[in-house]
Amino acid sequence: MALADAIPESMLPYPPVYKDKKFVVLSDWDGTITTQDSNDYMTDNLGFGKDKRRAGNLEILAGRQTFRDGFREMLESIVANGYTLDACKEELRKNIKLDSGFKDFHAWCRAHDVPVVIVSSGMAPVIRAVLGNLVGDSIANSIDIIANDVEEREDGTWAIKFRHPSSGFGHDKSRAILPYKDLESPPLLFFFGDGVSGAFFASPSLQISAFTQLCTGTDMSAARHADVLFVKQKGDGENDLAVYCTREGIPHIIFSDFSEALGVVKSVVSGEKTAREVLAKGRC
Ligand SMILES: [Mg+2]
Repeated sequence: MALADAIPESMLPYPPVYKDKKFVVLSDWDGTITTQDSNDYMTDNLGFGKDKRRAGNLEILAGRQTFRDGFREMLESIVANGYTLDACKEELRKNIKLDSGFKDFHAWCRAHDVPVVIVSSGMAPVIRAVLGNLVGDSIANSIDIIANDVEEREDGTWAIKFRHPSSGFGHDKSRAILPYKDLESPPLLFFFGDGVSGAFFASPSLQISAFTQLCTGTDMSAARHADVLFVKQKGDGENDLAVYCTREGIPHIIFSDFSEALGVVKSVVSGEKTAREVLAKGRC
């Protein structure tokens, strides 16, 4: 069975499907709410380093290794260097910056009955720790996060607990969004993402088939099902999600930060504009 057709069994619970809401926000974490990828940061600085990480990315692209197994190896290199989960959280809280507009964006959504759900290939406890820096721990603990988990052991070592261990992605993000598409009157879904790692996109060895395969469990698969898709503008100009959407004819809005996106979300939630109108503009 093709990877795209397989429905992986989830080993972790999902938050409720907000079937009675009119609007729901789903957002990627790394590179979308954060300004840089937190797992890459940990691997480069606490684990086996950037060169090995990049070599690993090429193995994944070449189809010799799954994203799931490559990611697990990166994290194992951090554990092998003696870093506990708490030490990792602390390091990320110090070094990972968040989109400056996200706090107000989230506060507005909360006040207007629009649930915000984070959908990530990373690990929920780590995400909550970093998020707590910006919005405070009590709000961070209340946000829905659909991601992988962590198993902490008594000896201080830890390991990633994949949501979908049978999927080559570890977590197939499209599974977070698809239940909404089966509802009789689904809420309007806003999705925010940036795609897969820039390192993948920049690779000269990237073949179309590998790219399509790589997209299956990522932002690309979730993006296909969103009603209003926001794609983050990257400072380095590399944006594989934008390239993918343009190539596939998927309407999307480029945004540089959440304060900019908030204006668009407000205009749709208030009824001032339709999803079709904001997508037609393509920018905030
Ligand atoms: Mg991302």
